[in-house]
Amino acid sequence: MKYDFTITKNPNPKTKPDPDTLRFGTEFTDHMFIMEYEDGKGWHDGRIVPYGPLCLDPAAVVFHYAQEMFEGLKAYKTPAGKVQLFRPDMNAKRTNKTNDRLCIPQIDEDLYVEAIKALVKVDADWIPQKEGTALYIRPFIIADEAFLGVRRSKHYKFIIILSPVGPYYEGGLTPTKIYVEDKYVRATDGGTGEAKCGGNYAASLKAQEEAHEKGYEQILWLDGVERKYVEEIGTSNAFFMIGDEIITAPLDGTILPGITRNSVIALLKKKGIKVSERKLAIDEVVDAYKNGQFKEMFASGTAAVISPVGELCYKGDSMIINGGGIGPVAQELYDTLYGIQTGTVKDDM
Ligand code: PMP
Repeated sequence: MKYDFTITKNPNPKTKPDPDTLRFGTEFTDHMFIMEYEDGKGWHDGRIVPYGPLCLDPAAVVFHYAQEMFEGLKAYKTPAGKVQLFRPDMNAKRTNKTNDRLCIPQIDEDLYVEAIKALVKVDADWIPQKEGTALYIRPFIIADEAFLGVRRSKHYKFIIILSPVGPYYEGGLTPTKIYVEDKYVRATDGGTGEAKCGGNYAASLKAQEEAHEKGYEQILWLDGVERKYVEEIGTSNAFFMIGDEIITAPLDGTILPGITRNSVIALLKKKGIKVSERKLAIDEVVDAYKNGQFKEMFASGTAAVISPVGELCYKGDSMIINGGGIGPVAQELYDTLYGIQTGTVKDDM
């Protein structure tokens, strides 16, 4: 390995969870990666240590001004037992784009990927192998200078933690019910919509809770200016099949450039399906539904890979898509992508 991270083994390893009852984001492995940044010194002291609490000054910038970012990707074991990551270089690139927006120092992308690989290697026994399970990888950066005042922090910590996870939605690939949010907004032009920073998620909780109360799993966000164009769903990108065209919102700065989204577009193009990255008005979706042309809808993201949408509710009216079942395009994309990620389908994208 190119980087010489020191490794301190955890003297008290935990019992690994039962893969049959694994949920999402509740269990953590025995080790974590940690590295510091200081102005003048750069990123330094990358190391793997036992997983445990952090000691932070109560005045740390992150607690007051939310200068932080995070990422998410997964590691799988192939049937032959080889550890596989899905496009970690794209997470490294997206990290630096987010860092730029949040005034967090850039991080060497090669070092970033090697740090992930080194940590996953140490905790490789934690990768669950049951269908639908994975080892979720959460790299994140926090501003930890003790300072009250609004300016960029001079100190940061880059940390990676690992979590063995079960399917994001209980029961695996199941159609979801989505609520079109027309009161709250997630992002606006010139804001932080395309950055993966915690503040975006804190600001989304209220809408998500209200949608849950109404019986919906997730929210479809509309644009922040006119509440007219579809953007993304919770922690995933949204795809609509209208007639024989599959449409997803363009990367105009307000949505997260999903790594799964990128693969979905590539796979659809390879299959010869017409796929457009364009603005799509919610009214166009409603009209297509009335004309029987709204064929399928699904979300794409690391957590659930592909998640079919069975019902979409806009202004009190429900649209039942594809009879409320799993559409054929969503099913095929899931099988292909999940197969590539777990090493059972050849990756020739
Ligand atoms: N949009 C948002 C807001 C997200 O949090 C995520 C999850 N990272 C996505 C889309 C999907 O991105 P990816 O395919 O890279 O997981």
